[in-house]
Amino acid sequence: MATTVNTVTGPISSDELGKTLMHEHFAFGYPGFQGDTLGPYDPANIVATGIEVAERAKAHGVKTIVDATPNECGRDPELLREISEKAEIQIICSTGYYYEAEGAPAYFKFRQGLGSAPAEVEELMMTEITDGIGDTGIKAGVIKLASSKDEITDYEEMFFAAGAKAQQETGVPIITHTQEGTMGPEQAEFLVSAGADPNRTMIGHMDGNTDVSYHIATLDHGVNIAFDRFGIQGIVGAPMDEMRHTCLIGLLGMGYGDRIALSHDTVNVWLGRPLVFPDAIAQLLEGWHITHLFEDVVPVLKRAGVTNERIDGIFVENPRRIFGS
Ligand SMILES: [Zn+2]
Repeated sequence: MATTVNTVTGPISSDELGKTLMHEHFAFGYPGFQGDTLGPYDPANIVATGIEVAERAKAHGVKTIVDATPNECGRDPELLREISEKAEIQIICSTGYYYEAEGAPAYFKFRQGLGSAPAEVEELMMTEITDGIGDTGIKAGVIKLASSKDEITDYEEMFFAAGAKAQQETGVPIITHTQEGTMGPEQAEFLVSAGADPNRTMIGHMDGNTDVSYHIATLDHGVNIAFDRFGIQGIVGAPMDEMRHTCLIGLLGMGYGDRIALSHDTVNVWLGRPLVFPDAIAQLLEGWHITHLFEDVVPVLKRAGVTNERIDGIFVENPRRIFGS
């Protein structure tokens, strides 16, 4: 059944999503970037880069991009709206905080110590989904949750509990960050037992782990999973794409194709000073860009016998179902 989806330019029907990339970032900054005055905030660059990225994705038929940037990592819904309007692409923004080690936990941890944070986090998510983000009038269209390597900390669990409740109230999908291929099954179990709808839950960065049993243990909870870091090799604990291909083709062959989403987790503008990757890493990251899936991964799937119909289903039907059923 079609439902209403919040994009940064207003509501659409889930039937209008079309080909969708479920986890990208037009701009992202590790908290702390605000203090580096040698890398000043440059909205014009974010918009210009965003338009160029959107145009490249559109050339491959992409109609919608989910921007998974957490609140404290430089999320700027008004810039996303400007990119969306100028590039004529649908963009969905997130509500939620990043995982403890790389987010900005001090603010809500202090309030957690005082006992007020769980209700405040839930109120924040609910308000951003139903009323809008600050005074922008832009509503969040997905709930972003994140956990650490090998654990869901008390701090993170507070967001998972709030996210499950906010989803029950609003129906908005949950998308997650798992760290270095850990906690996929645990995230799924926690969310489903906290009342989240598995059909509207997408456990992310599952391609940080290429052991099929890890994927099946997660899928057993009825959730969707995402291979959403194609092109990230050799940093943040990521495996090589070849290993991702092997695992993904295996899962598709086993019949899980209607519960898998694909994306890149691209960061198109790093907030703060520009990043300089050492040559060896830059070479490994050559495929980390917004059209990598269409240019380099889909051909591999086709060679392995994955049908066009299945591939279209992954990019069109699966996102529609995650937002709409
Ligand atoms: Zn991300």
